[in-house]
Amino acid sequence: MPRYTFRLYCHKCGREFDPLEPIWKCGCGGILDIEMILEEVQVSKEVFRGRICSMWRYLELLPIVDKNNIVSLGEGWTPIINDRKNRKVHFKLDYLNPTGSFKDRGASILISHVRSIGVSSIVEDSSGNAGAAIAAYSSLAGIRTKIFVPKDAPREKIFQIRSYGAEVIEIPGSRENVNKKALESCRHALYVGHLWNPFFIEGIKTMAFEYCEQKNWIIPDLVIVPVGSGGLLIGLYKGFREFHLLDFIERIPRIYGVQAMGCSPVYDLLHGKCTATISSTLADGIAVPDPPRKFQVAKIVSETGGDIILVNDDEIIRAWKELCKIGLLVEPTSATSYAAYMRLVEEGSIDPHEHTLIPLTGIGLKALDRLSNIISRYGKQRFN
Ligand SMILES: [Zn+2]
Repeated sequence: MPRYTFRLYCHKCGREFDPLEPIWKCGCGGILDIEMILEEVQVSKEVFRGRICSMWRYLELLPIVDKNNIVSLGEGWTPIINDRKNRKVHFKLDYLNPTGSFKDRGASILISHVRSIGVSSIVEDSSGNAGAAIAAYSSLAGIRTKIFVPKDAPREKIFQIRSYGAEVIEIPGSRENVNKKALESCRHALYVGHLWNPFFIEGIKTMAFEYCEQKNWIIPDLVIVPVGSGGLLIGLYKGFREFHLLDFIERIPRIYGVQAMGCSPVYDLLHGKCTATISSTLADGIAVPDPPRKFQVAKIVSETGGDIILVNDDEIIRAWKELCKIGLLVEPTSATSYAAYMRLVEEGSIDPHEHTLIPLTGIGLKALDRLSNIISRYGKQRFN
């Protein structure tokens, strides 16, 4: 095996794989993970200064087998702004990425990898943002792409995926059924499902790198993120952890994840099954009933001193409207973390003087139909 600055291994049995192998999970059924071999990486804090304003400024810390095959639309290096009410709250506007969500970070590195190993046809299952991101980058790379989506996925997102040129296959029934059909169609194509793919997460960790650099190496006390597949939470943790191991930052922040009532697999692991009778209908982006990495997510929130917070639709709408008032139009799913923040402060569970990073993950323009329905359903006065 040639020498790389990372290793690809099974999270369950520890087996190592050649990164050039077109695989998506271990023969034992385990999830694949990537670990950077930091001793072999030559970087310092100063080296990044003045580089390209995209996530690729951290090239040495990304698992790339061929630098000539990078597929980029300029993703990353998104702005950070403060909440007007509490300047200790830092919103990272990741919805300003090329396809309108943070998933572009994952898609850029995933498709770069796919192209590097010579794969020309891929299959993904997604209900929205990840599908759109993978469709855009694979189109740019000239890779044939089939995206399996639930029949009830938001129409705007299905249209977006199709627009990039991907083949969309709509599957009735549960999210599991969509996954099953996607896997069945993989005889001549590589399954790149973002719930499983470790390269995807490696792209997302650049959000943590950027925060540190943009904030002059002062890290937040806590981070609050929506949890569907868990890729965002794991990615941010990996980013902070790597910078900590490199001695660029002094510690790793507390990491909180947010799930919505009615679909809370990680919350259930930590706190016992949630018995709420009313399910959220707004947070479609985090409606993942059985994410393969749920144990990893639970471990990270426990180890860093965070937690998983459950929010309901009323709280999501309130947070969404508060964000609108400061000029930030996000998807309902993206508002869940601000909803959790407001509750934690009101309950006294967190100190409002602590620096808090809240990534805003998906643009509201993708969800205008649903958002206008919400407004009519809840009545105008509730927004004043
Ligand atoms: Zn294994």
